[in-house]
Amino acid sequence: MRHTNPDRTAYTNATGAAHVLSGSAASALLAADPRERKVTAAQKEANMADLKCAVENCSYNEQHLCSKGDIMVGGQKACCCGETCCESFTQRREGTDSFKSSVVHPSKTISIDCEAVKCMYNSNYKCHADHVDIKGCGACDCRGTECATFTEK
Ligand code: SF4
Ligand code: SF4
Repeated sequence: MRHTNPDRTAYTNATGAAHVLSGSAASALLAADPRERKVTAAQKEANMADLKCAVENCSYNEQHLCSKGDIMVGGQKACCCGETCCESFTQRREGTDSFKSSVVHPSKTISIDCEAVKCMYNSNYKCHADHVDIKGCGACDCRGTECATFTEK
């Protein structure tokens, strides 16, 4: 069964993007108060993962790269890849190509906030993997996606 997030808390990360966290993830993050934390350019760069995404049905997907700028991976209780998901997934609609933005372009590297605390690459709800694969060909919602790089601690 996939993770459930009955008690969600909204927050804004260092890049200004809005996200939603649940339960203890939210508590820990809010306790750390990221809005107060100064993130240097070098620290931000160190948290960037090389991302490849196979979810062609997502509006942000452009040639297996993600154009969102940063993503949120869910799966607070995940013990395997199938229990994680890309919560930033947004289904591509008929007649639309993808989200085109003058400021955000598809990028090889991306900042990933991640709830999957049982993953060895997760530190303080950030992903520190060098490379991340998101899978979910034909997904209709985020539950059809997963982080294939998840590795249990
Ligand atoms: S599924 Fe996630 S990683 Fe893939 S393109 Fe969409 S937002 Fe980006
Ligand atoms: S590799 Fe682990 S920490 Fe990184 S996004 Fe995937 S599940 Fe989260």
